[in-house]
Amino acid sequence: MAPILELLLIVLGMGLLFAGIFWRVESNKKSGRSNSAYKLSNNRGQELDRSLEKNRGKKISFKQRQIIRSNIGIYAWIPSELMGPWEERIITFLESFPITFERKNEATDEMKILVAAEAALLIVQRPMSDYRHLRVVHLWKDQIDGQENALGTANRHQVKLSWKYLKMHIRKARDGHNLTLHEFAHLIDFADYGVAQSIPVSQGTSCFDEWKQVVDVEHERLMKAYESGKNYSIRAYGGYECIKGNKPELFSCGTSAFFERGARLKRESPEIYDLFKKFYGIDPASWRRK
Ligand SMILES: [Zn+2]
Repeated sequence: MAPILELLLIVLGMGLLFAGIFWRVESNKKSGRSNSAYKLSNNRGQELDRSLEKNRGKKISFKQRQIIRSNIGIYAWIPSELMGPWEERIITFLESFPITFERKNEATDEMKILVAAEAALLIVQRPMSDYRHLRVVHLWKDQIDGQENALGTANRHQVKLSWKYLKMHIRKARDGHNLTLHEFAHLIDFADYGVAQSIPVSQGTSCFDEWKQVVDVEHERLMKAYESGKNYSIRAYGGYECIKGNKPELFSCGTSAFFERGARLKRESPEIYDLFKKFYGIDPASWRRK
């Protein structure tokens, strides 16, 4: 073979080899990134569940309980057997998540205990890993910075709440409208794929189809009730529908109704009440004022 041809073949071979190595490195980088993101959220979930396990049997302080009792209206309805699991989750929440005020300062103890109490109540019979994607809670004195018309917002990693409206809502225990429960319910809805579609379970699980069917039926029932001028246990905002057909507000508005108007929701829509009851592991329709 002529030396020049031999040299050309060597250069071509080397080029192909480098291209191959480059492609492998890049594709490994990509899959490495997604694997580590998955592993991170999975590890975080396990870490949260371990923290809860570690806090089994622990109690909040007398002062913290006083703050909850004097601010959270629904406190009077919580059955005594849920108090232990509730307090264990409050302690774990406070240890696990930063809560800021106006983004500049750490929130006060009162603010922190009330946010933690509401978030913990939602998962009082569920694992802490429901909040595996949450990184931070931001509180704003009145209006949320940059989102003047929203009292609260949630995406997969953070919850923002207006302190003024948070306090107002937690005081009224039976109006079916609770800003904090609402936003944390979005977090649970987001947890599987990052999409709020009012189905809090993963596709492929046995109850996914049941959720989908009941949510669709419930959405229709709610729309009909309001269109005919009637009132309904789930507020009208639950009927909001995206262009793509997702119904992102039904689960959150339904959650508030489930906690605060359980008996009425059960009467008006036993199917969705039953699904919520199975999912949250509690039966608010049977709660009695102490
Ligand atoms: Zn919402």
